[in-house]
Amino acid sequence: MDFSLLTALLLLSARLSWAQTVFTGDVIGGYPVITSLNIADAPSNAITRYWFLAAEAQGGIPYYLPVFLARGTNRSLESGRKLSLSASVHGDELNGIAALQRVFSQLNETVAGGEFNGTIIGLPTTNPNGNQHNQRNFYSSSSNGFLTNLNRVFPGKDPLEGAAMPDAYAYAIWNGLWGNTSNVDVAVDLHTPSTGETGPLWCYADFRLPYVQRLAELAQVDILKIDPGEPGSIETTWVDNSIPAITLEIGTPKRWQQDYIQRTEDFIFRLLTDLHMTPPSSNGDGTVPVVEVDLSNTYKATNSSSVYTTRTGWVETLVDVLDDVTEGQVLATVYNSWGDVIESLTSPVNGRVNQVKTDPAAEQGARVYVIAYNATTEGS
Ligand SMILES: [Zn+2]
Repeated sequence: MDFSLLTALLLLSARLSWAQTVFTGDVIGGYPVITSLNIADAPSNAITRYWFLAAEAQGGIPYYLPVFLARGTNRSLESGRKLSLSASVHGDELNGIAALQRVFSQLNETVAGGEFNGTIIGLPTTNPNGNQHNQRNFYSSSSNGFLTNLNRVFPGKDPLEGAAMPDAYAYAIWNGLWGNTSNVDVAVDLHTPSTGETGPLWCYADFRLPYVQRLAELAQVDILKIDPGEPGSIETTWVDNSIPAITLEIGTPKRWQQDYIQRTEDFIFRLLTDLHMTPPSSNGDGTVPVVEVDLSNTYKATNSSSVYTTRTGWVETLVDVLDDVTEGQVLATVYNSWGDVIESLTSPVNGRVNQVKTDPAAEQGARVYVIAYNATTEGS
């Protein structure tokens, strides 16, 4: 057999092995454990629950991720879109978990009624390791232990090539669950700021790929950050693979904020209508209604600028999320432990407050504000 043919067959078999749903045979709490997913293998007109085995930690502790799979009609495997919704890849970012749970709960009737056109893979807790450690990062035990930002290592690395645990974990999700894009053609990754910071509802969107702008506008966010992306993030890995995606940032970490959760849910249902996945609320004449978006409260920003302390102390913030600020305006005061002022922080630009440090304990170099601004109108 000629070498290139052999290589081609090996590649094909590798692809085929991703293309099957692989059950380990284990069932936990009534739901089967899988290591690979093919959406076509799941029952149609149903929301199926799986545990996805992403990796095994030291001590024989498996990382099982809960997976929702909403599959529409049989025909919709061909005719419908394939959406990925993922939340909490940072373990302290929790608003997205509730939003995602509620979306699937509300879809039950539509899907069971044979009215759903497409597929959604939902991953409410992408990083249970981070949830367990009550923090952003993923702990792995090599050497004396490492903390890894999982949202910088996608699409991961092949364990057969010696990948470290966090890279192998990301690889398993990317290939086994998302099928290296074969299970997904549009994606939303849900976040909040990190512990100690807060923000409004906002998103990062790389407008260079078609449909990303529409996706971001459907979210009707407070701040729409047009952004070139972050290598290794879930969003940018999708976009690099030509799958339209945004990162949606929802309010405050370590909380469930009903208003922001509701806005996120509303966005997902607008998106499902826009993608023709849910039945149109009928124009009466058989035409499909166009989803109107209201951007009257959305601030579009091309840039952002961070404000850092240069001293270690206690920070008092003087402006809040979504306040408009001007260049040179005093935004925060830093005190030493005696209460003496040791630093005043000012805005480097005219813009709108995007993120605020809520934790007064500020080590030198701590980010106190992110100010969103529009470089195309700045100074005008
Ligand atoms: Zn995050």
